[in-house]
Amino acid sequence: SSGSDDNDVVVIGGGPGGYVAAIKAAQLGLKTTCIEKRGALGGTCLNVGCIPSKALLHSSHMYHEAKHSFASHGVKFSSVEVDLPAMMGQKDKAVSTLTRGIEGLFKKNKVNYVKGYGKFVSPSEVSVETLEGENTVVKGKHIIVATGSDVKPLPGVTIDEKKIVSSTGALALKEIPKKLVVIGAGYIGLEMGSVWGRIGSEVTVVEFASDIVPTMDGEIRKQFQRSLEKQGMKFKLNTKVVSVDSSGNGVKLVVEPSTGGEQTTLEADVVLVSAGRVPFTAGLGLEKLGVEMDKVGRILVNERFASNVPGVYAIGDVIPGPMLAHKAEEDGFACVEFIAGKHGHVDYDMVPGVVYTHPEVASVGKTEEQVKTLGVQYRVGKFPFLANSRAKAIDDAEGLVKILAEKESDKILGVHIMSPNAGELIHEAVLALQYGASSEDIARTCHAHPTMSEALKEAALATFDKPIHI
Ligand code: FAD
Repeated sequence: SSGSDDNDVVVIGGGPGGYVAAIKAAQLGLKTTCIEKRGALGGTCLNVGCIPSKALLHSSHMYHEAKHSFASHGVKFSSVEVDLPAMMGQKDKAVSTLTRGIEGLFKKNKVNYVKGYGKFVSPSEVSVETLEGENTVVKGKHIIVATGSDVKPLPGVTIDEKKIVSSTGALALKEIPKKLVVIGAGYIGLEMGSVWGRIGSEVTVVEFASDIVPTMDGEIRKQFQRSLEKQGMKFKLNTKVVSVDSSGNGVKLVVEPSTGGEQTTLEADVVLVSAGRVPFTAGLGLEKLGVEMDKVGRILVNERFASNVPGVYAIGDVIPGPMLAHKAEEDGFACVEFIAGKHGHVDYDMVPGVVYTHPEVASVGKTEEQVKTLGVQYRVGKFPFLANSRAKAIDDAEGLVKILAEKESDKILGVHIMSPNAGELIHEAVLALQYGASSEDIARTCHAHPTMSEALKEAALATFDKPIHI
């Protein structure tokens, strides 16, 4: 049952890239085996990424609202407190329910699931050391590498997952740290910083670059940083971590300006290292096969997700492109469509990105900085949620919608939203971009009232004409 019969497709890794590829392959009638070493499906995303972080973001937001906002809505109670084990318990329950759900989908679609560490023996054979300690060889005509990514280590900093943690440790702290220092102001650092900040930690974010979340539109970023600062998050930008010492009670960090200069110290109870992620290919035996990789270890593939070695493919975080779960899924889907002799397509310019803080920031397409660099003539339309009736009704009106469209054709180039629920609002814009829509197309589309989505319609009106409500 471990797949000694020949498979059409073997997938190494059961994350969002791998498990979607496996299910889709089976749906296309291909005999498929998926190998996963973790003992649970769903990969980084479901086990230690997207899902547990969103669970904690929601729970901590509820506490924060109860403490700071309920009274103004006329909801009063005498005290509110955090029960951390219960909060962690609800997160763990969400994760285990969802992982088991994917196992169910494997059964339903007849995907063979092998629990163990996979390693190439040849381009069509993977030897697996199973979690039960046995060795088996899984053969396949097409082998898809979907082994994902891992935390990028910081030179001189040893992660112990207790006092010096990666995102994995930050999702499972046993106590609320009084002082949390986050190294790296990417979305993972800001999301985890928000979680602990909301339930009582004093959070300082140290970032080497001059800006938080480098991929974000500059104007949105400025407002976003201000909003996080208002919530109590402190930023030390242009700052380099020189050393981290956890030998004492807490942790001592020595920092200095990125360009060099006077050193200062920071103290923390817990330090989160979130300075990026690197492709994970350790122990796979890719070098022996001669699979081509780039300088940072990502597997190089063509538009069919095929590597330079015939029969070996790669998808998700282990190849270039945005390191996001939905991008990995799209890769997996398209890759097996090609294998099945159909046509797949993924456009990395249309992959939305979301930061799940409060407010959320969501975007798709080009930033204003990118449009300027391209030298395209463009128009900008903006609409603040302060002028959106639904946002005012619920007293959660921070943020704005910003649309960039080509001046001549009015074709939408990029959309950026900062608001509660921006991650849901963005998909109208993703669809618009995908269909080559103009801002006028969005503006002339009827939007239900009162909804936050109306801010998109108004921003679109502001792009090619005039908004009504401001
Ligand atoms: P992974 O999900 O990393 O899966 C790879 C799997 O392969 C792993 O389970 C691993 O155990 C297995 N594996 C590796 N090597 C072998 C081997 N040799 N044999 C067998 N199995 C192997 N993305 C979003 O889109 N939205 C979010 O909100 C979001 N939040 C995140 C929050 C955090 C804290 C983190 C860390 C990441 C987050 N991400 C988010 C990123 C997202 O998790 C990744 O982009 C996504 O998981 C990549 O999918 P993948 O299938 O390529 O790889």
